[in-house]
Amino acid sequence: MQEALFYNKLSDGKVQCELCPWNCILSPTQVGNCKVRLNDNGNLVTEVYNKVATLGSDPIEKKPLYHFYPGKNILSIGEVGCNLHCKFCQNHRISQCKASQFSGFHNITSEQIVNEALKTWNNIGIAYTYNEPFTFYEFLLETAELAKSKRLKNIVVSNGYINEEPLKKLLPFIDAFNIDLKAFSDEFYQKQTKGKLQPILESLKLIANSGVHLEITNLVIPGLNDDTNEFEKMSKWIAAVLGEQTPLHLSRYYPQYKMDISPTPIETLNSLHSIAKQHLQHVFLGNVSDNEKSSTYCTNCNALLIQRNHFKTELENLTSDGTCKKCGITSGIIL
Ligand code: SF4
Repeated sequence: MQEALFYNKLSDGKVQCELCPWNCILSPTQVGNCKVRLNDNGNLVTEVYNKVATLGSDPIEKKPLYHFYPGKNILSIGEVGCNLHCKFCQNHRISQCKASQFSGFHNITSEQIVNEALKTWNNIGIAYTYNEPFTFYEFLLETAELAKSKRLKNIVVSNGYINEEPLKKLLPFIDAFNIDLKAFSDEFYQKQTKGKLQPILESLKLIANSGVHLEITNLVIPGLNDDTNEFEKMSKWIAAVLGEQTPLHLSRYYPQYKMDISPTPIETLNSLHSIAKQHLQHVFLGNVSDNEKSSTYCTNCNALLIQRNHFKTELENLTSDGTCKKCGITSGIIL
């Protein structure tokens, strides 16, 4: 176990963790809401340091990131724990599990992960993903620093539920984020995830203002977050605050974990796609077979720039610096 960053010692052996908006106050032997940070004799420690639950190479499109090194692979690692408790979590076996009760860890150091990334074919770096990466903050920070020194890219796929100071400390080492914006209503966040909306909006603003590449995923759940007025408000907010070039991935929901609502109708996804396209330049459908709405087009001349078919990616009319070959405009795609 490793001492955690971002905590204060209180009286009676208690500690307060200040990593995420829960700001948990923990008595000795108590673990935080994320189930992986423990008060060990008056010190806050992380139980997920120098270990992984999952490690493998994925297409970068699977994160999903569509405008960041398209066609490349990324070595992806995950652990256990999460600071949200979504009823529809696809990875609940690792995200909602206590570190102390998980038996599938592999011990591994940051150096070993970086060495693995350096020798993996077609690989641009390391993605911190699968469970909530901020809950293994110390290991993430250490690995990302080392990876950056070896010219690897670091990608974080996250729920965005983190306090400002730790996010600021991490930003210089991260090259791209995909952040889940699960809805544009605090009621949804409180009922369906046990979190709050505002801290996630603050994280998104901080990331966008830092200039780090940002894409957003919104899982559309019938009857819970598919209200067209609320969705349009979210699209307008993304355009106005984060930038209209921010890619938005609308993902089809399927029943998972504690939620048994039927899968999102394709018509709903198409309708929300049309609304978002009125405000944002790049809107994609995910978890569905729709090559047209998962491909990238030039915002100026509408030329096909990247054709996607599931995780197969073909660069079409792009120069090596991301310029559209047809009209010469800069696409903003990082190649
Ligand atoms: S990171 Fe975990 S222990 Fe720390 S405040 Fe968040 S939920 Fe609580």
